Amino acid sequence: MKFLIFSIVTLFCTHSFAQQIRVGVLRDYDVQRILFSYNDGSYLIFADSLEFGAILPNEFVDIAYLSNDKVQLKKGVELLGQFDKISLIETSPSSSITLTSKSPVVKERKYQSDFEISGGAKGLTIVNLADMNNYLSGVVESEGGGGKEPEYYKVQAIMCRTYVLKNLTRHKDEGFAVCDRTHCQAYHSMLRFTPKIREAVVQTDDLVLLDDFSDLAGTYFHANCGGQTSEAAYVWNSDLPYLKTFKDTFCIYTKQATWEKRIPQQKWADFLVNKYNYPLYDSVYGPMLFTFNQADRMAFYHSPSLGIPLRDIRQEFQLKSTYFSCYPEGLEVVIRGKGVGHGVGLCQEGAMKMAKYGFTYQQISLYYFPGLKLASYKEYLFFRQKQVKIEEF
Ligand SMILES: [Zn+2]
Ligand SMILES: [Zn+2]
Repeated sequence: MKFLIFSIVTLFCTHSFAQQIRVGVLRDYDVQRILFSYNDGSYLIFADSLEFGAILPNEFVDIAYLSNDKVQLKKGVELLGQFDKISLIETSPSSSITLTSKSPVVKERKYQSDFEISGGAKGLTIVNLADMNNYLSGVVESEGGGGKEPEYYKVQAIMCRTYVLKNLTRHKDEGFAVCDRTHCQAYHSMLRFTPKIREAVVQTDDLVLLDDFSDLAGTYFHANCGGQTSEAAYVWNSDLPYLKTFKDTFCIYTKQATWEKRIPQQKWADFLVNKYNYPLYDSVYGPMLFTFNQADRMAFYHSPSLGIPLRDIRQEFQLKSTYFSCYPEGLEVVIRGKGVGHGVGLCQEGAMKMAKYGFTYQQISLYYFPGLKLASYKEYLFFRQKQVKIEEF
């Protein structure tokens, strides 16, 4: 019975999280000092149990990092004290605030919803208690860019929603659910998204992608697959049935479909020979040190038996993808590649093309994630709850 109560409580918390996401912001930096200044509609200032009025037009608060558990608060130039936690609470849902990092200096950003600021390990922990739909709109804008078809934005919204709900505990120890870096999902400023993006988020309501076990799916995406998506196992050593390779004809005539890069032969040889013991004197592989043909996507250079993963070559030489062939020319190796990114899951440029051709968000989602199903998050929670009951009784 204890297990049942615990599970239901967990579900309830997860559900309330769904409406409001704790996003750690400015996580690219170890922030030492920030200003929050008036933008639109005021914010109330709380420090531990004390209240210090509101941030009104032309006013700001100045928060500095002191230690792992203390921050210093000033209103304008007036020192208010040292505290464990500072909260900024919006006075209306349309309020927004400007956040400027002074140390290090970062371009100002505008946000909506409440903030909590405390001392972290190396700097301030700044948490935006973002409304789910605002958060998703910001993420879809950051990840997908502006000026795209509504059906494409809907696909991206469903994927980003599935991702965040699957990763609610990723940064639990740091005091928030997800960070604002590409580590989780890029989320740079709340007020940058367009009404069209917001509409796509709202229209897909609480839709998520579920796998065969009715678990939230891993909704990976990349810029362009180069005409063939990649097996998940080629990239991360994990295999999922809905992340299998297939030929994608929608992205091959787009601008990122092909690329070329030249590397000095010496560097290429040094890397493969020194690090991977490339068999230079082997009668078959020796002459093929600089020559490689990859018609269909592969995981290894020439053969798995050589043990040289293409993902390692990609990382070492900063290649746009692992889907490349190469040949020697002069003192260089000419790399001719296809696509941009890891190639797993949804191909963004292909999905944009499909949306332009008139495919619906359902068709696009299931084209790139065959075998998954679209479902409402509320139904997912209900199903989970029922599962818990079945297991209990
Ligand atoms: Zn993260
Ligand atoms: Zn593609």
